[in-house]
Amino acid sequence: MLGLLLQNQGLDVHIYEKADRNVNRSRGGSLDIHHDTGQLPLAEAGLLDEFKALARFEGEDTKIVDKQGHIYFEEDAEGEGGRPEIDRGELCDLIQNKIEPERIHYGYKFESMDTLEDGKVKVHFHHSDNFNQIEQKETEVFDLVIGSDGAFSKVRPFLADTDIIYTGVSFIELSVPDVHTQYPDLAEYNKNGKMMGLGGDQLILGQLNGDGRIVVYVAYELDRDQLDEYKALDNEALKARILEEFQDWDEELLKYIKYADDNIMFRRIYRLPIGFEWQHQSNVTLIGDAAHLMSPFAGEGVNMALYDAYMLAHAIANHSNQTEQIDFDKALAEYEKNMYESSKERAKESQENLETFFREDAPEVMANFFIEGQKMLEAQNQQSNQ
Ligand SMILES: Cc1cc2nc3c(=O)[nH]c(=O)nc-3n(C[C@H](O)[C@H](O)[C@H](O)COP(=O)(O)OP(=O)(O)OC[C@H]3O[C@@H](n4cnc5c(N)ncnc54)[C@H](O)[C@@H]3O)c2cc1C
Repeated sequence: MLGLLLQNQGLDVHIYEKADRNVNRSRGGSLDIHHDTGQLPLAEAGLLDEFKALARFEGEDTKIVDKQGHIYFEEDAEGEGGRPEIDRGELCDLIQNKIEPERIHYGYKFESMDTLEDGKVKVHFHHSDNFNQIEQKETEVFDLVIGSDGAFSKVRPFLADTDIIYTGVSFIELSVPDVHTQYPDLAEYNKNGKMMGLGGDQLILGQLNGDGRIVVYVAYELDRDQLDEYKALDNEALKARILEEFQDWDEELLKYIKYADDNIMFRRIYRLPIGFEWQHQSNVTLIGDAAHLMSPFAGEGVNMALYDAYMLAHAIANHSNQTEQIDFDKALAEYEKNMYESSKERAKESQENLETFFREDAPEVMANFFIEGQKMLEAQNQQSNQ
């Protein structure tokens, strides 16, 4: 997103991605993109209509149940809400297709960097390209380096000596394919959006994706190394173990596990310290998870990453003069101040939600949270109609 915004400002921007060009094909699940953060850069790039045409407004359906299957909250989305869903790969493709292809360099893994005497930055990459049988080290020199390399950022250590923290929660990600055709009972139960099964120290979270599959997160409070026990099992034994551990759960909820296919992923959930900041530099900064990794329990990570792109692109434009000289020092200082403020609030919320989700009374607490949200929205709508 940032690459596109900077390209549109006429800057000579280049994106280096360690994966190959098929990186979007099967990347992650569905994301709700918020009107007041994630959608702003899409609008700025003139992509809002295309985004809305692809987005699933009905994907805002929400259901909260306890492990016996009692429903605490159920809402069917109506009309055009402020947080429509889109599959991650579709969103990436939408943005990427607008970037001039020669600006994106696949198979380039950032390894390290040095600041040169003139203030420029020399970056060392490992370049691999299976098709052309290339495996080599390469270097490039830049005026500005923006680390947008995610949770396990390799750029972050050049700015701060701060490591990510394991939250004590791990996910086993399952996938139920083609639910409308193969499992209409589950499709009907789940509806078009999210189902949150909250059972104290265990959760089942289901989310319908645009391709007709339900992505399921079976979530546990686990010590970091305990996930390895699950990883060591073959798929059949893994499912049997999960079903045994969820044996006192309602039969409707167990279908999320029983119907799952063999696409299984294991995810430890990490975060950065809330309020993480680094020593400002004039030629390197961070955006997205590299800057403010937070757990997914508030659904804010992608939205904040997109919002960072918006804020940084604006800060750069604000500090460019007529002769196209950019004061990166001032631009980064402005961006970092705004980003620290907005991400700290969301990081706090994500951590509070994580703790709430695993409480014994989570179904009631989360249902109240959504009911209050509904009331606020109704009051806002009434006010704007007056
Ligand atoms: C299970 C789960 C569910 C989630 N659900 C949601 C949700 O519903 N809503 C939401 O808003 N957020 C969600 N998130 C959070 C969201 O995925 C992240 O916040 C978001 O992807 C961050 O974007 P990013 O671009 O900063 O990092 P990433 O998406 O991680 O992208 C980093 C990129 O950098 C590349 N890279 C990494 N290292 C290097 C290197 N050394 N050299 C070159 N390239 C490199 C990677 O290949 C990748 O393409 C979820 C996260 C998890 C784990």
